[in-house]
Amino acid sequence: MNSEELRICENNMRYKFCPHCGGKLSLEETFSLSRPKCVNCSRIFYQNPAVGVAAIIIRNKKILLGRRRNSSHRDMWCIPCGYVEYYEDAKEALIREMKEETNLDIKLSTVFDIHSNFHNPAQHTVGIWFLVEEHLGDIAPGDDVEALDFFSTAEIKEQNIVLAFPTDVRILDDLINKGLIR
Ligand SMILES: [Zn+2]
Repeated sequence: MNSEELRICENNMRYKFCPHCGGKLSLEETFSLSRPKCVNCSRIFYQNPAVGVAAIIIRNKKILLGRRRNSSHRDMWCIPCGYVEYYEDAKEALIREMKEETNLDIKLSTVFDIHSNFHNPAQHTVGIWFLVEEHLGDIAPGDDVEALDFFSTAEIKEQNIVLAFPTDVRILDDLINKGLIR
């Protein structure tokens, strides 16, 4: 993100009132960045990205994608993913999310890549894409995924599959370049 984009983000305060005392939040320079600060109790609110985790599940050099059901990016496709809950281990979160969204029991391999996602101004995330070593069970869409299928990149083009997230597009390019998908 460049400085101009950062400035725009700072001016778009996501919250207006203090969750502790209900006081008004104002922007104040704190450690060289403007951050929301409560005018009443003086608490500073550090705005940090949430953590998202995604599973790269490959069969016959095709990647598993899910069509989204919820309002955000409805009917667009993504690499199956989810948010890490506040008290949850990141890897356990992904194993749980994949059971909910795909019905698969997965065994994680290594981290494939990490990207910052700025596509949603209301919730920036840091995404961690894991390679999946093993996936067991019958695939069945659930939770906020309404369809699942394996795609080659040619099939993604032919079937006009629209990917919801620009970082998923980068991941697909890198998977092709490394010969992991076709
Ligand atoms: Zn307050």
